[in-house]
Amino acid sequence: MFSSLLLAWYDEHKRVLPFRGTKDAYRVWVSEIMLQQTRTETVSGYYTRFINRFPDLFALAEAPEEDVLKCWEGLGYYSRARNLHKAARTVVEKYGGVFPADLEALRALPGVGDYTAAAVASIAFDLPAPAMDGNLTRVLSRFHGVREDVDIPAVKRQLLALGQEDMPPVRCGDFNQALMDLGATVCTPGTPDCDACPLRPLCNAYREGDADALPVKAAAKPPKEIQMAVALITCKNKIWMIQRKETLLKNLWVYQLTEDYEQARDIEKALHALGIRAKQAEALGPARHVFTHRIWSMTLYHYEAESADCKEGRFVTLPEMLALPIPTAMKAAKEQAIRLLTPAVLPAEEGQLPALADVYSISWRESHAAHCSLDFLEKHTAEAMEAKLREHARQGRSVYGLWMANKAVGVLILDEKENELSALYIHPDDQGMGVGRAAVAFAVHALNAGKPMKLTVLCGNERANRLYASFGFTQEAACRVLDAERNLFEHDLLRLPESKKEERP
Ligand code: SF4
Repeated sequence: MFSSLLLAWYDEHKRVLPFRGTKDAYRVWVSEIMLQQTRTETVSGYYTRFINRFPDLFALAEAPEEDVLKCWEGLGYYSRARNLHKAARTVVEKYGGVFPADLEALRALPGVGDYTAAAVASIAFDLPAPAMDGNLTRVLSRFHGVREDVDIPAVKRQLLALGQEDMPPVRCGDFNQALMDLGATVCTPGTPDCDACPLRPLCNAYREGDADALPVKAAAKPPKEIQMAVALITCKNKIWMIQRKETLLKNLWVYQLTEDYEQARDIEKALHALGIRAKQAEALGPARHVFTHRIWSMTLYHYEAESADCKEGRFVTLPEMLALPIPTAMKAAKEQAIRLLTPAVLPAEEGQLPALADVYSISWRESHAAHCSLDFLEKHTAEAMEAKLREHARQGRSVYGLWMANKAVGVLILDEKENELSALYIHPDDQGMGVGRAAVAFAVHALNAGKPMKLTVLCGNERANRLYASFGFTQEAACRVLDAERNLFEHDLLRLPESKKEERP
């Protein structure tokens, strides 16, 4: 009676989910592992991506663990991904790539517990095994009126036996999935929707009127709160990361973490042990991540390293960082890291002029070093360049600072009246890191795209010419003499509006 009422309801009301309707043990297993401790809505997107990336057991078994973790990124409980990968290799090696249709053999695979083994056995192989998750526990305890703590092993066994008695001889997988759906949509935690429930005529808790008090559970211990410092250590355009060896978040990549953090000295000691010489640049605020048994109460800092030397871990660029599997616990830190490693173009403020003038002086001298005498180069001091920046501003041009990891790395000067990119200088140490590209993209956006955009560049500066060409600037005339004595030549580049380009022969 129980199962016929339930299955009739299921046939009409079952949830449509991307991992439903298959009896492929691989797919059932992947979805059931994902569903452990994760909401169904969250799993749906991840499941589709995962199956596209690893369409069968062999694809998963052959993949490097780091690829599996990257695909799992954001789903949490990463030991599931590591065990999934291990289990795939076990099934290939031990069973020739075919899942065993046996509850005990499934149960022996890494990461497969009683629930997952029963779910796979019943859905893929129609074996009569109740998949005792939170939903089944709640529905069965209410239906049968079990009023003892459901976490006590004897009570668990009792509920499993009741589930087995209720299970029909066929459609075992549908029976489990029907109970899961009923628990998720009708017999929900708190106050269930008994009026919509097919089991109401036979339900003990409904009859007794205490459904909202079931299942009985002892109060859970509150998770332990751990104070943690997260140091984002940058060196030029790179950030330091390390692959964790600890059980929690094992093999995932994190920034420098100091547990039981109390004061800055704790971080400094940790950096010393890693062989990193760095000083604190900025406090970046708090972040928090709740695990099942602990809470990381984090304070984020930005540190600047003197060099990329380190005994452990490594400094990585932004694209390298984004390719690594990084846990959700690092979400706030990762956002800050992206900000630190992304070049920013900002209007120069009065207080920033000395720092920008310093970069302007160094980069100007570097770009002219091959042509000018030492005396002439040395006249372009930071003070002289600060005066030049002020003169640009006085003449109505816009002066921008280029920043990376909160450090001035270049200057950009735009003349909106002339629709001209007047100057772009980047510190020699920070070239080739996307700063120039970000600055030109900014300039093209800030100037009037409906009129020709102009700029002047030294002849022979191939790097700059290539960069500007990639934004549609073309040379308009032959090189002209800028300073014959110093062998300096320049030429104009023009970026025409789309309509003008079409008019050209
Ligand atoms: S009648 Fe109410 S308490 Fe009983 S199984 Fe249905 S929803 Fe749950």
